[in-house]
Amino acid sequence: MKDCNKLDLWCRLMRLITFIDLPIKQKFRLFSIGVLFWFVVMAALTVVGMVGINQRYDKIVNHSVPQDKVVQKVIRNLQAMTIDASNILKATDRVTVERLQDLSFKRLRDVRDFYAALALGGEVNDYSHDSGKLLETLHTTSLTINPEGVAYLRELNLLLDEIDVSYSDFFQYKLQVLAKEAPNGEHLDGRYVTLTDYIQNASQISINFSSKLAELYHTSSSKISEIIEVTILAILGVLVVAVLLLVIFTRWIVQSLAKPIKAIIDQIHNVGTGDIDLTNKIQITSNDEIGTLSQEFNGLMDTVYSMSTFKSVIEEDATLEDVYARIAEVFRRELSIEDFVIYEVDDNQRDMTPVYPLALSSKEMACNPEILTNCDLCRAKKTSHEISSLAYPQVCKQFKEETGKAHICIPMIIGGRTGGVVQFLFQIECGQEFDLADLQTRIFKAETYIKQALSVIEAKRLMTTLRESALKDPLTGLYNRRFLQDHANHVISGILRRKKTLGLIMCDLDYFKQVNDQYGHDVGDMVLKETAALINKGVRDADIVIRFGGEEFIILLVDINPGDAIVVAEKIRGLFDENKFKIPNGSIQKTISLGCSEFPGDGEGFWQCIKYADVALYKAKDTGRNKAVRFEEEMWSGEDF
Ligand code: GH3
Ligand code: MG
Ligand code: MG
Repeated sequence: MKDCNKLDLWCRLMRLITFIDLPIKQKFRLFSIGVLFWFVVMAALTVVGMVGINQRYDKIVNHSVPQDKVVQKVIRNLQAMTIDASNILKATDRVTVERLQDLSFKRLRDVRDFYAALALGGEVNDYSHDSGKLLETLHTTSLTINPEGVAYLRELNLLLDEIDVSYSDFFQYKLQVLAKEAPNGEHLDGRYVTLTDYIQNASQISINFSSKLAELYHTSSSKISEIIEVTILAILGVLVVAVLLLVIFTRWIVQSLAKPIKAIIDQIHNVGTGDIDLTNKIQITSNDEIGTLSQEFNGLMDTVYSMSTFKSVIEEDATLEDVYARIAEVFRRELSIEDFVIYEVDDNQRDMTPVYPLALSSKEMACNPEILTNCDLCRAKKTSHEISSLAYPQVCKQFKEETGKAHICIPMIIGGRTGGVVQFLFQIECGQEFDLADLQTRIFKAETYIKQALSVIEAKRLMTTLRESALKDPLTGLYNRRFLQDHANHVISGILRRKKTLGLIMCDLDYFKQVNDQYGHDVGDMVLKETAALINKGVRDADIVIRFGGEEFIILLVDINPGDAIVVAEKIRGLFDENKFKIPNGSIQKTISLGCSEFPGDGEGFWQCIKYADVALYKAKDTGRNKAVRFEEEMWSGEDF
């Protein structure tokens, strides 16, 4: 698994922000959250922009514009009042003056109405002063939220009061002038100037305020444009960032998902076509499911690789022992299984033998040793099924429960029959957690290795049988002369290495020819067979009995004490003395002559000692037969070997 160096903060940061080690499901969930986030950001920007625009727009449409309209009406009425005043000044008759005064007061009332609308907000009607018709209805909002508006209203109110007073004064004086109660001239002009000054002042502050409102309108309009611009830019910016991230994420998806999957597909394809380098691993770039998949796939390839190399290696192994040793090595090295026994089953003889470890004593066996001589007692052999005490405690009666171990016995099916059994043993300690799943995986792998080895074991066993048949005498089942020639060195080196003595007994039936002559060749064969059995009875399992030729036998007594060969020879002779050979219609008695020597006690050469045993045999024959004679130096008069 690819991991960052602890100090490589950049690498660790990148792995964190790319979610590379998160499970795929989580990755896509985060991706969706990311997409949603950018949508929300864009929506929020749009909403903020729209709200900003709406606020400014509202200011313009619902406040600045209607307020300005009303102020404009105020200005227009005030200016009309100036004209009215001028006309009153110039008027020469009372009727005109009174009409104009009426008109001016109407205008002043309207201005006060407009003032009230600006102060409180609301609806106000504008009527034509000439016809009295409704010109328009104006909706306005209060100016009092604006400090400048408050100042304007206060000033306007004061001026309107002043206008009201001075207008009455000016009008009254004009009427007095017309009635000639007051002098025309500067007094009237003075009042006129005072009145128009007030009106001009009121008009001017209204004009000023109107231009302020226009300024506000322009500011708001440009603010709207600015907001639109900023919003568009922000959305574009977010869009660019989101697209950039999407491109990066897509590239990363390709890197972290598509690439390893493609590599796995390629490997699988190569496996299918046989064009594969099994040592070529898939690179693991993430700790997610893809990483696990790659790791598992590499593991699988490892297993396939080690299986295939394992098979080709054992195929080249020389002997069955080598194959078993190789299997054992794989169990230890690859599967960490230490405690196991491989049994070979000989169905014909109905026995089974531990072939790994080789020198396993009955005591060391975890099973009743009786299975060795009666292989059907072994449950795995008998049923040809895996027998596991983990699946079913005390499943096999032959297992020694006192070992405190658990066992799994796997039959080796060779040629449709159980040709062997592999027994795995596990120490289960109380209170210790037992990883059953891990154990089962290892056992499964072990079974796979065993299956791989079965064909090789079968072939090697066949070869062994063939080789043995070439080395054995078909009549008696004993080893033949060729065996002695092939294996002499092996036996000799063992004796010399162990610094032991090898006893050599050469034996020959007395007057055997007579049996053939008297009863026929078949009876002779029967006697030979029984002779072989009798000799075997007289020696230990480890000793080697060889039919040297005709009715001559050599016995190799392995690892004896010096001087014991003659004892064994005498014992064999005794057996023949007591034995009656069964023949059709009765039985006969035959005696045997034996000559023995010891290696290396009697001579340095093995073949030399064989010769000495032969010499002793002749001595036995010469001196009356039915004898066991120990070789002595005086018997040999030939040249030195
Ligand atoms: P001696 O006491 O001197 O050994 O007398 P003998 O008759 O046994 O003489 P010898 O050992 O020379 O005889 C060997 C005979 O064994 C010769 C041969 O006919 C017989 N023989 C050899 N091989 C076989 C065999 O496979 N089957 C049978 N039936 N006879 C065999
Ligand atoms: Mg003989
Ligand atoms: Mg003979």
